[in-house]
Order: sequence, then C-alpha cells, then structure tokens
Amino acid sequence: MAAAETVPGESMVKESEMDIKILECVECKGLFSLNDVQARLFFVDTVTCRGCYEKFQAMNSFVSCFGKPRSLHYAGYSATDPRCTLYCQDRKVCRQFVIQKLKAEKQSKSGKESE
Ligand SMILES: [Zn+2]
Repeated sequence: MAAAETVPGESMVKESEMDIKILECVECKGLFSLNDVQARLFFVDTVTCRGCYEKFQAMNSFVSCFGKPRSLHYAGYSATDPRCTLYCQDRKVCRQFVIQKLKAEKQSKSGKESE
C-alpha cells in the first residue's frame, strides 16, 4: 500500500539548502546562496558577486580593466595577453563579461541595420 511512498519534503530540504545564503562576497560582503551560483549571480572561483563585477565593468578603464574589450587607448581584456588568460584571478569571469558585452553591442548594431 505504501510502497511508492516518497519522503515528503525531501525535495523541499534540497531547495532550502540551495536557498541558504552562506557565500559572502569579498567586495560588498553581500550574502549569496547556491541558487545564486547557479543563476550566475555569484562566482565561487573569485568569491565575488555579479553586482560588484558589473560595478568594475562600469568603472573607468584606468581604475579597473575588468570586463572591457581592450582597445588602442583603453586597458581591458585581450585573448592574446597572458596576463588576461593565465594570471588574472578574474580571467574566467572577465572573459564572459567581455563576450557578453561584445554580443550585446553586435545585437544592438544589427538591430539598427534591420530597421
Ligand atoms: Zn559583491
């Protein structure tokens, strides 16, 4: 009769564990959960949250080179620079932000063309 009985709340326990905010951002001291990691709101590799990285990205390139494509006059990410690809602690996240930024710029440009 109760052969197929599942443990009630088993999935709920897992979900709530995922929701517990146990990860602290080293920059803003904000707290994040494993759900936030999955949602890419928090980066475990660097213990930094997306909000802080977005702030770095918005900063002048003289202050922070994070998340910016390098150009002739501005500091930023270069796929051919070992400092960016091997040594920088933010290299993985930075690369993702740069790719996203370039994609967004491409999309807004191609959107204008199709009008
Ligand atoms: Zn933060």
